[in-house]
Amino acid sequence: MNTKYFADIIGHDQIRQALQRAFAHGRVAHAYLFSGAEAIGKYKTALAFARMLQCTCGAESGVRCLACDLPAGQAHPDITTVLPQGATIRLEQIREIQKDLPYQPRAGKQKIYILDGVERLTEQAANSLLKMLEEPPAYVVFILLTVNTYSVLPTILSRCQHLSFQAVPAEDIAAYLREHGCQEEQAAIVAAVSGGIPGRALLWAEGGYQLRDQVIHCLEDLKHASPGKVWDTVALLNQEREQILITLELIAHVVRDCLVWKATGNRELLLYKDCTARIAALTEKAALDGLLAMYKELTAARQMFLGNANSRLLWEKICLRIQDALAEQKESC
Ligand SMILES: [Zn+2]
Repeated sequence: MNTKYFADIIGHDQIRQALQRAFAHGRVAHAYLFSGAEAIGKYKTALAFARMLQCTCGAESGVRCLACDLPAGQAHPDITTVLPQGATIRLEQIREIQKDLPYQPRAGKQKIYILDGVERLTEQAANSLLKMLEEPPAYVVFILLTVNTYSVLPTILSRCQHLSFQAVPAEDIAAYLREHGCQEEQAAIVAAVSGGIPGRALLWAEGGYQLRDQVIHCLEDLKHASPGKVWDTVALLNQEREQILITLELIAHVVRDCLVWKATGNRELLLYKDCTARIAALTEKAALDGLLAMYKELTAARQMFLGNANSRLLWEKICLRIQDALAEQKESC
């Protein structure tokens, strides 16, 4: 069986096998729902599956097809990806699909629509999609992606074959990173802190180590700088939503390490063992309860960022709190 399309997917073996089996036995469903955390590999898998379905490479001619040899940055004409525009997937976007649906595939064997973020369909868009799912043309496959199955209309859910993406074991992520040139220790650290989310691990392996160093640097700055300088750090940290969540998580890791170091002084318990000296310096003047309060606040902040709170104000609060916790303890009078 041709497995090359899935070569770059980290983990999710059962899902891969299920899709390959369905393909091999001619039992591909008309609609799939892939559910799982952000960056866990849903879109990558959907795209790999779509390309496998589209492959028209002729065994006799030996010519490679468009699905296999797609030029970089170019989309396959029969694989359409729909993303939320702003906060929602709108009716007009679904109508575009509706209009396109009756036309036969242009280059491939099928027409594949990948809808990423179906929990964000407006009510009208969801109803319109539902109608298409009821009786799609034989050559159409829908792949719906969601981070939250509970927000998807049950009527949509019932028309899809549901595949649930689970966290990938750290060993699998580390092995992939090592195979792709990551050093042993770095691979282990990145895999451990990725929470089983391959996309996050890849991001960290590429630029994240640098990002982590920047984060530690920000904390060091906050520790030493005057309160007036806090706003420079806020400006630095206040980026795109996705980036903010990663930065926040990295800060939580460092603060967690500060906490563990302060409480135990045991290097072996740290996530970022390679930064022990910097962690030790950061916690030098901090109090345990201040660090604990800070850690709790970071966890709460994540929820608030997800809830679309004003990110600038949140960063201000976090940075001032960090400064407070790391700076020299005030003499009690
Ligand atoms: Zn091909």
